[in-house]
Amino acid sequence: MENTKEFRTWLDDMQLDHPLVIAGPCSAETEEQVLKIAHELKNTDATVFRAGVWKPRTRPGGFEGVGAVALPWLQRVRKETGMKIAVEVANLAHVKLALEADIDILWLGARTTVNPFAVQEIADALNGTDKIVLVKNPINPDLALWLGGVERLHTANIKNLGVIHRGFSSYKKTSYRNVPQWQLPIELKQRFPDLPIINDPSHICGNRTGIEGISQIALDLNFEGLMIETHVDPDNAWSDAAQQITPGRLVEIMDDLKVREPKAEGEALNQLTELRAEIDVIDNHILDTLAERMKVVEKIGEVKKGKNISILQDDRWATILETVKKEAVVRGLSDAFVEFIFKAIHQESINHQETIVTGK
Ligand code: PEP
Ligand code: MN
Repeated sequence: MENTKEFRTWLDDMQLDHPLVIAGPCSAETEEQVLKIAHELKNTDATVFRAGVWKPRTRPGGFEGVGAVALPWLQRVRKETGMKIAVEVANLAHVKLALEADIDILWLGARTTVNPFAVQEIADALNGTDKIVLVKNPINPDLALWLGGVERLHTANIKNLGVIHRGFSSYKKTSYRNVPQWQLPIELKQRFPDLPIINDPSHICGNRTGIEGISQIALDLNFEGLMIETHVDPDNAWSDAAQQITPGRLVEIMDDLKVREPKAEGEALNQLTELRAEIDVIDNHILDTLAERMKVVEKIGEVKKGKNISILQDDRWATILETVKKEAVVRGLSDAFVEFIFKAIHQESINHQETIVTGK
């Protein structure tokens, strides 16, 4: 897929003087609920109204969305507030109904992006459309799969594309509902700088308190917009109650968020240039030190080979990890970060010793 300016036009056309804000409930519940939320959002930064109509649920038996009956409610939202309207589509039937209802923005959910058959079906059904289509990241942290989804749509002549970063599931218990793993959207941005990227702090956090912090990080990373689940009565929402915020809270968050200058200029640029030169020197030291460490590791590998000793020495590795984690804290580094780095260093060391021991 070529990086192309074509990606961008829809967002420029909106001529916003602030990041794009997509707000609205996780699910459309009743006509009254939808309209009440929309009217409260009318005079905020939100210019797109979202509502899930078909809800993919992890297990059967939960609330699976009210279905197509909600589409006319969204049309009323557009008519009465001037906001664009957005829904999630997950199959051919959804696409047909959404197009018939002239929905402005269609998005593919995380559970759809993981499935190339479903994405292709949607791409074929939307072929050549001038609707805006946004692709949420797949549940699992797989950049190729995410981009593959975008590519299928692009190949189907859909030009008004964008992506939504909603975090990734993890088998480990974390403080997030879906771990942000910022390095993935950062890499995506580097590869496709003209593809608008929107952050969804609601599904990353899974609670209300983290939304502002995650939104600020997204803006600091030059995301073009935010999708935030908003409800007039979050506690009683029919889905994702814990993470939805009121329109009033959305206004507060938008007031607090700082939009940075995308590029440094003048004095700031001089300062950054100097500091970046310092960073480059330090990065070189880190690389030299790692290379030096690997040389010693290889010598140890020779000794182990000579005496037929196994490569992994559990006790030694446990001691290293314990020591570096303690040392980390003294230096103002988090032990989790240092553990992560040292696990990678240890893995690389094992790989080097394998080469020595097996001769391959
Ligand atoms: C949603 O936006 O309500 C939703 C179901 O999100 P995701 O696909 O990110 O889980
Ligand atoms: Mn939701």
